[in-house]
Amino acid sequence: MAAGDPETKRAELDALGRKLASLRSKLIPPPAPDPNPPPSFDVRCPACGGDCESGTVQADGTAWGFFWIGFSYSPLWFWRWTESSSERRRILDPRETRSSACCTQCGTVVIQG
Ligand SMILES: [Zn+2]
Repeated sequence: MAAGDPETKRAELDALGRKLASLRSKLIPPPAPDPNPPPSFDVRCPACGGDCESGTVQADGTAWGFFWIGFSYSPLWFWRWTESSSERRRILDPRETRSSACCTQCGTVVIQG
């Protein structure tokens, strides 16, 4: 592996990403668990009919986002596509938490409205 080849660069960037994630977790500890978690969101997976685990979702920043543009958080968007256009709907604001369920079999996530 030569110093300037893409594989070496990728490994160096991955190492930097891990260092940044470690530094970020030291500087900005994750939020404490909510002492009053949302009520259980019990649903069957709409994709495969499997069992779902109840939990929450949150739009959060990433180490790479921190690396490139500092602290930033993006909202979560839903895009509806038609043959001639698309429209988007804001699902979660940055750092907003919402009840959800995740299928243990196929990974489908259902977010409560
Ligand atoms: Zn499923």
